[in-house]
Amino acid sequence: MLIYNTLTKKKEEFVPIDPSIVKIYVCGPTVYDYFHIGNARSFIMSDIIRRYFEYKGYNVKFVMNLTDVDDKIIKKSIKEGTEAAFVAETYAKAFFEDVKKLKIKKADLYPRATAHMGDIINLIKKLEEKGFAYNIDGNVFYNVSKFVGYGKLSGKKIDELESGARIEINEEKKSPLDFSLWKKAKEGEPFWESPWGNGRPGWHIECSAMSCKHLGETFDIHAGGNDLIFPHHENEIAQSEAASGKKFVNYWMHFGFLNIDNEKMSKSLGNFLTAREILKKYSAEAVRLAFAQTHYAGPLNFSDDLLSSAEKGLEKLKNLAEKIEEEIKANNTAGINPSFDFDKIRISFEAAMDDDINSSQACGVIFDFIREVNRTIAENENINVKFYLDVKDFLKKTAEGVLGILDFSAAVQQNDFSLENDLIELFIKLRIEAKKEKNFALSDKIRDELKAIGVILQDGKEKTTYKKSK
Ligand code: AMP
Ligand code: ZN
Repeated sequence: MLIYNTLTKKKEEFVPIDPSIVKIYVCGPTVYDYFHIGNARSFIMSDIIRRYFEYKGYNVKFVMNLTDVDDKIIKKSIKEGTEAAFVAETYAKAFFEDVKKLKIKKADLYPRATAHMGDIINLIKKLEEKGFAYNIDGNVFYNVSKFVGYGKLSGKKIDELESGARIEINEEKKSPLDFSLWKKAKEGEPFWESPWGNGRPGWHIECSAMSCKHLGETFDIHAGGNDLIFPHHENEIAQSEAASGKKFVNYWMHFGFLNIDNEKMSKSLGNFLTAREILKKYSAEAVRLAFAQTHYAGPLNFSDDLLSSAEKGLEKLKNLAEKIEEEIKANNTAGINPSFDFDKIRISFEAAMDDDINSSQACGVIFDFIREVNRTIAENENINVKFYLDVKDFLKKTAEGVLGILDFSAAVQQNDFSLENDLIELFIKLRIEAKKEKNFALSDKIRDELKAIGVILQDGKEKTTYKKSK
């Protein structure tokens, strides 16, 4: 199996440290708001990677951290007049609800920074003892110039970074590249006791401490969005390798950004859609298929069309799943066994996924398979149940097990938004016609009645879109 490694900038054969288990750490959310579908892309693609290792027979230990102490959380708590811990708890709970709705498998562990203060402090102490950290009046910084390999992940050079770095307001640091390991407590902020006084940890040290605690000093795969390569992951390497004297991570995997109107989707730009909002309009399977159809590392532009065409594509899969369930119930053991090469299709699926998790090609294999199965069904009258059991077995392992775009247990009563969405589009068209005829009483009535049942129309320059509020 080949994996593109950001560290070496090439595809490499994947060899786990321990042949029986693959250890994966993914940078999870900062819990200060509902997560958006850009974040969801990183969470879903890491879920597909994890599920594929399990498909291949590995045990997987999958760890995703929750950053629950951070500037953004504190800012929100001040704005809302609550405690930072309350903000973090509220959105951690929402995170678990939303990942469940997206059919993302539970991680083995979701470590939180606030529950690992002892580990974090010990790691900073170790860095201080080894001469990689310095304390200035209760603020502890990492001394980047002491770490020889700094820049090896991002390919950045220290001297170029230094000359290009903005001079920060914090003039205490020896170099603008040095970063916070421990931040001295400020008035009104949450704090923990430490050898350097009351304060809280920097973001990067949390991931170094928690990954080491739960996966060991060296582990197999570390993943996250592209934006984390520098400085977050570069700094994690500097901290972990300085402390242990060992290689930190063997394979670094990074997810491409989800863009909207060709601009990165992010909370700070305000151009985001939350996962919970999207799940009111589309099924989890459609979101997963829309993401799986693009390779995890490339950029992906979000649009309503992307999701509605995924929803349409899924209909073929659901129809087949329903047919399979009916035939298995009918249990025809006397029929013929049509010739069908299941091995060939399985090999194609695995070849795609073994090539750096090419889920886009793997989706193509599944849709080709559906076409071939439907043709076989159309061409043969009396088919033995064995054929349907084999079809189900393949789809259960791949479409359901690895990609999570099908749910056999719900195949018959699965949420299907496509008819509902088509009806809303029809009302939008009727409203446009009413407006053209200057029948504004009718066009307003359509808008108001839709709103009353939870569909909010938004008139744009070129077209009218809608949001569901329930
Ligand atoms: P955050 O809550 O901002 O710390 O992000 C959580 C995870 O989502 C990180 O792995 C980010 O790299 C990733 N992420 C953030 N925005 C996007 C986006 N627009 N597309 C893909 N991944 C993203
Ligand atoms: Zn991290």
